[in-house]
Parts: sequence; C-alpha cells; structure tokens
Amino acid sequence: MSPEAKTDALLVLNAGSSSLKFAVFAIEGRGLTQRYDGQMEGIGAAPHFILRDAAGARIAERQFVAAEAPKGHEGALGVILEALKPLLDGATMRAIGHRVVHGGRDLSAPVMITDAIMAKLRALVPLAPLHQPHNLAGIEAAARHFPGVAQIACFDTAFHRTQGHAAATFALPPRFFDQGILRYGFHGLSYEYITRRLAAEDAALGRARLVVAHLGNGASLCAIEGGQSRATTMGFTALDGVPMGTRSGQLDPGVVLHMLDSLQMTSSEIAHLLYHDSGLKGMSGVSQDVRAIEAAGTAAAEAALDHFAFRVRREIGALAASIGGMDALVFTAGIGENAHGLRARICAGLGFLGINLDPEANAANRPEIGRAGDPVRVLIRPTDEEAMIAEHALALVEVA
Ligand code: ADP
Repeated sequence: MSPEAKTDALLVLNAGSSSLKFAVFAIEGRGLTQRYDGQMEGIGAAPHFILRDAAGARIAERQFVAAEAPKGHEGALGVILEALKPLLDGATMRAIGHRVVHGGRDLSAPVMITDAIMAKLRALVPLAPLHQPHNLAGIEAAARHFPGVAQIACFDTAFHRTQGHAAATFALPPRFFDQGILRYGFHGLSYEYITRRLAAEDAALGRARLVVAHLGNGASLCAIEGGQSRATTMGFTALDGVPMGTRSGQLDPGVVLHMLDSLQMTSSEIAHLLYHDSGLKGMSGVSQDVRAIEAAGTAAAEAALDHFAFRVRREIGALAASIGGMDALVFTAGIGENAHGLRARICAGLGFLGINLDPEANAANRPEIGRAGDPVRVLIRPTDEEAMIAEHALALVEVA
C-alpha cells in the first residue's frame, strides 16, 4: 500500500482468548491482495507482537514485559494499528471483517454488524464462553478505533447450516434441540475457503463428494457434497470429534458423569482437563506439537500419534458413509498440510475406500498425494480463513 496511491483497504481481525490475529488486504477493483498480516499473542500476560509483509517476512516485532503491556484486546489493537499506520498512509479503510465463532441457528451467512446483531451475538456467549466474548471484544475495540467503518461478522458455524436434521440433532427429546442444543459444527470458514478454491480450480471438484480434514491445533473433519456441508465431527462445542492439540475430542458422556459423581471433580476441573490437558499433549505428556511428539519417540508419544491417526481414519470412513462415498480426501491446516508421517498413518488401511498415498508425493507435501489412477483423489490445500473473511466482507460492503 504505497502512500502515493489512494488505495482502499480491508482489515480482518481474528480475536482469540489471548491473541489477536490480523490481516490487511488492498482492494484492487473487485479483487483482494493480502499486504500484511501478523498477531499479538500473550494478551493479558507478556504480549508478543509480529507484523509480516505479503512475502511472510517480519517487518516489525516487539516483546512487551508485563508492566508495559497493552491492555486487553483494545490495547492490542492500538499497537497493531500504530504499527500499520505508516504502511496504510493514504489508504481508506473500507471494512473490517471479524471471525466470530458462533452464529447460532439463525445466522447462516456473514452479516453487517449492527446493534441488533451485537445483541444476538451476546446472547450466544453461553454456547461458546471461551471464544465468543473475545470475538465481541475485538468488534467493540475495532468500532471504537474506526467509527463509521462497516464491520462484518463471519461465523465458524455458518457453513454447516445446510446439514439435515438427522446430522444436526442429538438423540435427545426434541425440546433440547428447540433450546439450541444441537450440533453446530465449527471451522466453517476454512471448509468454505477450501470448497470454493477447489471449485474454482476444477468444476468437477465443486460438485464432488469431499471429506476435508482440517487438522491444526483445533481439528475437525467435514463431509461436503456439491459445495455444502452434510456432516462434521465437531458438535455443540469445539470439543467433539477427533482428538486435538490439547482437547480430548469425543468422549463417552458417561466419562464426564463418572468424573463428576465418582471422582468428585468439579465442572471447571473437567473443563480444564478436556480443553487444555488432553488430546496429543495430554496423551503424549510431551507437547501439543506433532513435531515435538514425533521427536520424543517415547511409548506415550507413539500411543498419542497412533490414537490420533486411528480416530481421524475412523471419521474419514464415517463421513464418507454420510454422503454415500467420496471422490476426494483433502488435508488442510498445520498438521494436514505438513505432518506427512501422520498423514501416512491416517491413510494406512483406507485402501478399501480407494485411498492409497503416493509415498514420495506425500513426503514432499505435494498438492496431490494419492496414487495416480485411484478412485479417490487425495489432496493437500492450504487453508486461509482470513482470505475467506476478507472476501465475505468485500461482498457485503459492495452491495451496501
Ligand atoms: P491453529 O489451529 O492454532 O491455527 P495450525 O493450523 O497452525 O493451528 O496447526 C498447528 C499445528 O500443526 C502444530 O501444533 C503442529 O502440530 C502442526 N505442524 C505444523 N508444522 C508441522 C510440520 N512441519 N510437521 C508436523 N506438524 C506440523
């Protein structure tokens, strides 16, 4: 964004519990070009700020000590905007797109944020107490910094609102569904991004039956048919489904009852265990990072990787069954895009479904890693939730 050119810019904010990620896009005609991105991590403790250019090179970095730390998300946004100021000189901020974890049952597409929408989003806090308040804090901070600029909310749950009742319900009396106790699903912006990119590169993939495995620190899988979500592994919360970096994934609900009643654990102790001390980290006793677990080579580390691969493999089969077969399996996010050893473990034994890896292509993290000529294509595609949010935000300001 050069000072001499009067560029229009679009800011994307992704507010987590202790982090604020951002990306800045230049609006060029009807297209978007990412110019900068970065994050403030460790908000509330000793925040660390990074700003990168479009090539990924770090152009600013700062470690704050607790005493001089910016306060909350508002303070973090102040530091981010201060660093962006000289770079955005001459640019007009057209819109700010926000990642919001929960849109409930009604919000099935991105929306322009109004007071009425904020009230709806606040009412959803009990459904996502660990994420939604931070997302809303990001929106409030941005509204104070950019009064009058259009703000757009994009929801992790929205993409899954195409699922049928059989996929979305729990086997409980219907009054619970009516109260909003149902499978919402998450990672929707990532699935939508992957689905759109595949359709753009090959129309046949746009119509195909896909199983997409979003395997990062948070992990889920989604069955997609004709571009629409049909089933996904995360449910009422982002705890369900496959094991994750620190989250347990699916548990027999009887385990939670046993912890409460027989082990006398409190609900907050159980929540901490299931969200922060389980999954790859809890099982391996090493780390939540697959690289560290692979390097550890202990029996517990091996058991963690084996269980993760087993659960993901099982879900691939289950999701394929939910859409009557599959044409392509797509890996994305940190583990999906990089962890070739784990991908090989996951796919071992899926030959009966027509999934066989080309070992060389897999080891090189190539975009196409399935054996040539096999019935199911196996693909790796990088996800980009920020780009998806930017596209939505631009589409909404263009019609406004
Ligand atoms: P988040 O859900 O926080 O966005 P990411 O999608 O960035 O997470 O995924 C982060 C995880 O990806 C790391 O914790 C690590 O397990 C895994 N990962 C990243 N790079 C590699 C690599 N080269 N080899 C194996 N695993 C990797």
